[in-house]
Amino acid sequence: MRLVERVADGWRLLVGPVGAVEEVTADAVVVATPAPASARLLAEVAPDAAFALAGVDYASVALVTIVLDERVELPGSGFLVPPVDGRFVKAATFSSNKWSWVADSGRTVLRASVGRAGESTALQVQDDDLVARVLADLAEAVGPLPTPADTHVQRWGGALPQYVVGHLDTVAMVRRSVAGVRGLEVCGAACGGVGIAAVVAGAQEAVSRLLADLGD
Ligand SMILES: Cc1cc2nc3c(=O)[nH]c(=O)nc-3n(C[C@H](O)[C@H](O)[C@H](O)COP(=O)(O)OP(=O)(O)OC[C@H]3O[C@@H](n4cnc5c(N)ncnc54)[C@H](O)[C@@H]3O)c2cc1C
Repeated sequence: MRLVERVADGWRLLVGPVGAVEEVTADAVVVATPAPASARLLAEVAPDAAFALAGVDYASVALVTIVLDERVELPGSGFLVPPVDGRFVKAATFSSNKWSWVADSGRTVLRASVGRAGESTALQVQDDDLVARVLADLAEAVGPLPTPADTHVQRWGGALPQYVVGHLDTVAMVRRSVAGVRGLEVCGAACGGVGIAAVVAGAQEAVSRLLADLGD
């Protein structure tokens, strides 16, 4: 979505990639993009909401998957690492301990999550360096591992909104601002909670408010 514009009988949207931009008209709009995009889209129609959303910071993360040809005994299903421990890896999942369809392959599969709030520069290295740092942390946590048969790095830039003290006031400002605009709603992880369950619930609430609004 590139533009959200109020018109006499509803909304005019511009959507699509460069070179294939389309115009869409609608009775109502739910803006469900990450906060920086929502802030840009709402700048004209709900400036207070745009201002509030523009202040939401995001953490970037990367997932590093490691496949070992041999079966290695690992304890439990994984672990979480608090920031105070000062490690690069913030969580690890032992996929081959968790899922029978992975275990059935006879291989050991681990997935580590890296990238904490405010540390996006730590991710700005080559994939091989990320893998090496992950393997070093894993070796400390579970003991030395064999040389991986394969690895994969999946990066998620600006993926996780960070809730700081006062976030509820930010969300309240967004809600107040869009409540004053007929046929407009905002939802997504920046507003109603991070995680699929919270996001789905937030979307359902947004649509309910919208339908009530349009029914008036
Ligand atoms: C690596 C990782 C693992 C996770 N694992 C879990 C898990 O196991 N369980 C769980 O509950 N949660 C998990 N989460 C969190 C969960 O994925 C998010 O909280 C949730 O996806 C947020 O949903 P959302 O709709 O707000 O945002 P998103 O899922 O980010 O969706 C926003 C969408 O907006 C699109 N977009 C961006 N800009 C525009 C634009 N201008 N116009 C149109 N579209 C646009 C994006 O392409 C994207 O599709 C994980 C997150 C990450 C990063």
